[in-house]
Amino acid sequence: MIVTYPNPILKKIAKPIEDPTDPEIRDLIFEMLETMEKNNGLGLAAPQIGKSIRLCTIKLDGETYILINPKIVGKSWKKEIGEEGCLSFPEIFVPVKRHSKVKVRFTDKEGKEITVKAAGLLARAFQHEIDHLDGITIEDRKIKS
Ligand code: ZN
Repeated sequence: MIVTYPNPILKKIAKPIEDPTDPEIRDLIFEMLETMEKNNGLGLAAPQIGKSIRLCTIKLDGETYILINPKIVGKSWKKEIGEEGCLSFPEIFVPVKRHSKVKVRFTDKEGKEITVKAAGLLARAFQHEIDHLDGITIEDRKIKS
């Protein structure tokens, strides 16, 4: 089940995951991928299913990303405005300004450290999902008109 705004868990800073290979984490990843698929979301963060831990999943252009303890380690100066939706804000789309490119470091489900560079929609998805782990939602980011 997806947690929707204004549930307070969406405002909490999520806890780091100590053991990425923990079977409970495996099960949670599976549940998140399933939930994302069922709801046609391109990304989901663990707090959105009620778990305040640093885990998010993204599926874009046939590629699946499972990010454990992700961190933005590089970003472009250039920013872009784009419309964003969120499974925790059903049927709402708001303009949000994001870095055009980001470099993200995370642990994969085998416990290996990975660094990915992203641009465009993938860069936006990374920033949106990592925001969730810091208790930040599109409500906080939206450009006020
Ligand atoms: Zn979201």
